[in-house]
Amino acid sequence: MFEALGNRLTGVFDKLRRRGALSDADVQEALREVRIALLEADVALPVVKDLVNRVRDRAVGQEVIRSVSPAQQVIKIVNDALVEALGGGEGDDGKRGIDLNAPSPLPILMVGLQGSGKTTTSGKIALRLRVRDRKKVLLASLDVHRPAAQLQLQQLADRAEVTCLPIVMGQRPLEIAARAMDVARRELFDVVILDTAGRLSIDAELMAEVAAVKAFAKPHETLLVVDAMTGQDAVQTARAFNEQVGVTGIVMTRVDGDARGGAALSMRAVTGAPIKLLGAGEKLDALEDFHPDRIANRILGMGDIVSLVERAAETIDQAEAEKLAKKMQKGSFDLEDYAQQIKQIGKMGSLSGILGMLPGIGKMKAQIENANLDQSMLKRQSAIISSMTMKERRKPDLIKASRKKRIAAGSGTTVQEVNRLLKQFDDMSDMMKRMNKMGQKGMMRGGLA
Ligand code: GDP
Repeated sequence: MFEALGNRLTGVFDKLRRRGALSDADVQEALREVRIALLEADVALPVVKDLVNRVRDRAVGQEVIRSVSPAQQVIKIVNDALVEALGGGEGDDGKRGIDLNAPSPLPILMVGLQGSGKTTTSGKIALRLRVRDRKKVLLASLDVHRPAAQLQLQQLADRAEVTCLPIVMGQRPLEIAARAMDVARRELFDVVILDTAGRLSIDAELMAEVAAVKAFAKPHETLLVVDAMTGQDAVQTARAFNEQVGVTGIVMTRVDGDARGGAALSMRAVTGAPIKLLGAGEKLDALEDFHPDRIANRILGMGDIVSLVERAAETIDQAEAEKLAKKMQKGSFDLEDYAQQIKQIGKMGSLSGILGMLPGIGKMKAQIENANLDQSMLKRQSAIISSMTMKERRKPDLIKASRKKRIAAGSGTTVQEVNRLLKQFDDMSDMMKRMNKMGQKGMMRGGLA
């Protein structure tokens, strides 16, 4: 998500940077381009107008133009305006993430259209609450229209290793909700996630059913799940749900896709409800907290180092990483270590997702994707290294033409691919040597601060 918008805005700012000194006219011209970029990203028109006006008020005038780095100032102002549009303004703190500050059993109501990812998200939230918040979670499907939906939730509960309320055919949604709360009270569950039925579009019957369940269960959180790929329709869906049912937060799914991002930027202004979580994949652990400041940084190509480091901390084996870092410092990093590293990177999820979080990578990302640098490439590289003898892995210099042929055949790849891997490894070793020469001082500590 946000890729095209990010690229457009980076282009606008690159132009500003090249100019050095800025006139009011330069800033106006840049703002015009920012406006077009936002419209193309499918941001709602009133939101675009408001955002551009806010930037103009702050950017046009003597102060910015006279400052030491005017372009940087303009970027900062746009960044701040984006953060505000995303709901990160003053007074918005504390509304992010799920609020667990209520007596047990705490009911969470999941609402949304069919296909938005509601059931998957219920499973993701259950997993997160069990693992990260150490809560005892009960999942219950109130979708009496589609028995398959109830089975799907049961399967998700199994994968998330949480309890699912047993299915009793013929019960009405309110009866199921009552049974869920009853079980939760008796069996001391901390959180009950009620997954309501969805429809293909908003209709009066759906709203009435959801509203009745809400009135009965008095949920602490009512989370609306919307699909980022549906753009402004997602915003209109959110507006309708908020007006007719009332929601405490929004979960936006499929942000791993190429949604233009306008929905995320319009959501707060149009619906008044905060985005609390993002769904970034089909897997159960693909759920992210929504941080307006980090998203704004991501849009402006400044990367999202904080999220990257957090993701790394969650997935990477710390002891293993330290071992590798030591080897790098000593210059004894070999292909066997490289294979380990590939495995760790693979665990962090899609490579293009990771790259998107790095500053300045936005523009390169498309090229990298074209070059097919993805999970399948990691797998092929692993296969190539697996086809080497241990001696070859420790001493890659040994690998000459005949060995390359054998390795390519053994791994089902080509000699070119083997060459590419060896070249990449060489480049990496070179870089490590240079980094070591620069001294370790700032590298490990300052690098991430
Ligand atoms: P529901 O009808 O709203 O309950 O939707 P489901 O939970 O059944 O999801 C519909 C489809 O979307 C499933 O194939 C999910 O795996 C997929 N899905 C859900 N969330 C995400 C997400 O964040 N990213 C991607 N790529 N797919 C998702």
